[in-house]
Amino acid sequence: MVSFALNGVGVSGGIAIGRVQLVSHATLEVAHYTIPVARVDAEIARFAHAVDEVQRELESLRTGAMGADGASEFAPLLRVHSMILADPGLSEAPKKTIAEQRCNAEWALTLQLGVLVEQFEQMDDAYLRERKQDVVQVGERVLKRLLGKPGPLPAPVAEEQTVLVAHDLSPADVIQFKSRHYGAFLTDIGGATSHTAIVARSLNVPAVVATHNARQLIRDSELVIVDGDAGVVIVNPDRAVLAEYRLKQTELALERQKLKRLRSKKAETIDGVAVELYANIELPDDLAAALDNGATGIGLFRSEFLFLNRDGLPSEDEQFEAYRTVLAGMNGQPVTIRTFDLGADKQAEGLAGLARVAANPALGLRAVRFCLAEPRLFQTQLRALLRASHYGKLRILVPMLASSAEIDQTLAAIAEAKASLDDQGVPFDAAVEVGGMIEIPAAVIAMDPFLAKLDFLSVGTNDLIQYTLAVDRSDEAVAHLYDPLHPAVVRLLAQAITTATKAGKPIAVCGEMAGEITLTRLLLGLGLRHFSMHPAELLAIKQRVLTSEVAAMKSIVDRIRRAPSADRVASLVDKLNAL
Ligand code: PEP
Ligand code: MG
Repeated sequence: MVSFALNGVGVSGGIAIGRVQLVSHATLEVAHYTIPVARVDAEIARFAHAVDEVQRELESLRTGAMGADGASEFAPLLRVHSMILADPGLSEAPKKTIAEQRCNAEWALTLQLGVLVEQFEQMDDAYLRERKQDVVQVGERVLKRLLGKPGPLPAPVAEEQTVLVAHDLSPADVIQFKSRHYGAFLTDIGGATSHTAIVARSLNVPAVVATHNARQLIRDSELVIVDGDAGVVIVNPDRAVLAEYRLKQTELALERQKLKRLRSKKAETIDGVAVELYANIELPDDLAAALDNGATGIGLFRSEFLFLNRDGLPSEDEQFEAYRTVLAGMNGQPVTIRTFDLGADKQAEGLAGLARVAANPALGLRAVRFCLAEPRLFQTQLRALLRASHYGKLRILVPMLASSAEIDQTLAAIAEAKASLDDQGVPFDAAVEVGGMIEIPAAVIAMDPFLAKLDFLSVGTNDLIQYTLAVDRSDEAVAHLYDPLHPAVVRLLAQAITTATKAGKPIAVCGEMAGEITLTRLLLGLGLRHFSMHPAELLAIKQRVLTSEVAAMKSIVDRIRRAPSADRVASLVDKLNAL
C-alpha cells in the first residue's frame, strides 16, 4: 500500500491513529447505488413518503409563521414551496427515474434537481429564474428526509479509532459528533475559525481542514495518522512512522494528565495579576467539560446550536430548560448566554421558510440583525433567558452589534420581554447584565454607545479579524490572509481593551485567539484580564498565565502596538513567548 502525506490546516490539536470512514454528504455527495428489481416499488414508496412528510412540514411551518392576525410575510413563500413540491416535475419525475434506472431515490431526486435547475437558468423572465433557489431548497428538504434521521453521518465502526473524512461538514453536522466519539476528522475545505472548526475544537479530537482532496485520495478503511497540531495527515504509514507517532501520542496524553493538577489553582501571573478563565460551550452537555477543566464561568454559550439539526424551532419552554440547566450547573458562577447567531454558515432547518438567499451571507441578515428583523423569535428567546435568570447568574450577550441604534432596539426588546413576564408575575433577575460582542471594526472605532449603554463587552476575534481584513473565515482559498497578527487587528484589539478598561467596563475575548497559547502573553500584555475558550484549552492557558509576568512584557508590547507589519508583530510575539 502506498504511503503518502497530505497537508491542511490543523484546527484541533492532538494525534489520532485510526481507520478511515468516508462521508457522503447530503447535498454535496449523494450516494448512487443500484437497487434490485424487487425493491423498486419500495424505493418509490420511500420517495413518496419523504415528499408527503415535507409537504406536511411546510404546512405546519406556514401555520406557525402566521401571526395572531393570520398574516405573515413568509406564508406566501411557504405556499410557493408547497406548490413547487406538488409539481409533478419534482414529486413524480424521480419515481420514473427510480423505476427506469433502478437507482436509489436520493440519486433520482438529485438528477431531477439538476434538470430543473438547468430549465430555470434558461428562462428569460428574471423573476422565474430567481425561483431556481426555491426549487433547490425544496429539493434539499426532501433529500434530507430521505437520508433519514438522525442525519447523514454514519456511526463510528470502532470507538476512538474512526477517522471521518468528508469533502465538507457544516457546523450542524459536526455538533452531532458530540455524541458519537470519532477519533479525528478531515475535510477538503474550510477555514481555521469557521464554525465547523470551532465545534471540532470543542470535541477535543484532532481535526485538519483544507486538505483539498483528502476525500478523493483516501479510501475507506485505510489507516491514517492525523496530526492536528501540524495539520498533517499520513496515509498508510510504515512501521517506523507509526511507532514514532504512537510515542508522541503517549507523551501528549501524559502532558494533558499533568495539567489536570491545575484545575482548582487560581489563575494569576507571577507578578500577581489575576485573570478570569471562562469556558465557551455550544450545548448544555458541554458543561461537564467546562467544570472538569476548572472554568470559573461560562463566557460564551452559543445558543444557536439549540436551533440546528431539528425540525421546527425550540419553544420558549425548551430553551428555558436548556438555559436553566446551564445556570443551575454552574452553581451561581456567571453564565454568559449569547442570543442566537444564526445566518452565514449556521442555518437552522426550522428557519428555512424564513431564510432569504443572500449574496453575501456574512454581511447580511445574521445574528442580532436577524433577531431584530424577527421580533417574535427574539422575544421567545429573551423570555426564556429571563425566566432562566432566576436560577443563577445570567449575563445576556448580543452578537454582531454595530451601532447605537441597534443597541437601543435590543435593549427595548429586552425591556418588552421583561414587561411581559412582569405582567404574568413570572420571576426573573431584573438586574440581569446585558453585554455586546465586539466583532465589527465599527464597534471599536465608535465604542461610545457600547460603553454608555451596555454592562460588559466581549471581543469576538473570529469575526473581528474576518471583517477587518475582509477575509471569509470559512474559505480556505483565503485562509493564508486570515491573520490575527495583522497590525490592524492587533491595534483594534489594543484599542478595544484600553478604551473599555479606562471606562471601567469589563471586557473579555471569547474568540479563538483566547485559547491560542502562543497569543496568551500578547493578550495579557495588551491589558486583557478575562479570557473565554473551549474547555479543553483552559488548563494549558492557565499554565501559561501562571508562568507569565506582565510587568516584564511592557517594552515588547509597546513595540508590538506600533509594529508596521504582521511579520514584525510575529517576531515580537516570539520574543514575548521566549521571556
Ligand atoms: C467570534 O466571532 O469570535 C465569536 C466568538 O463568535 P462566533 O465564532 O460564534 O462567530
Ligand atoms: Mg462571531
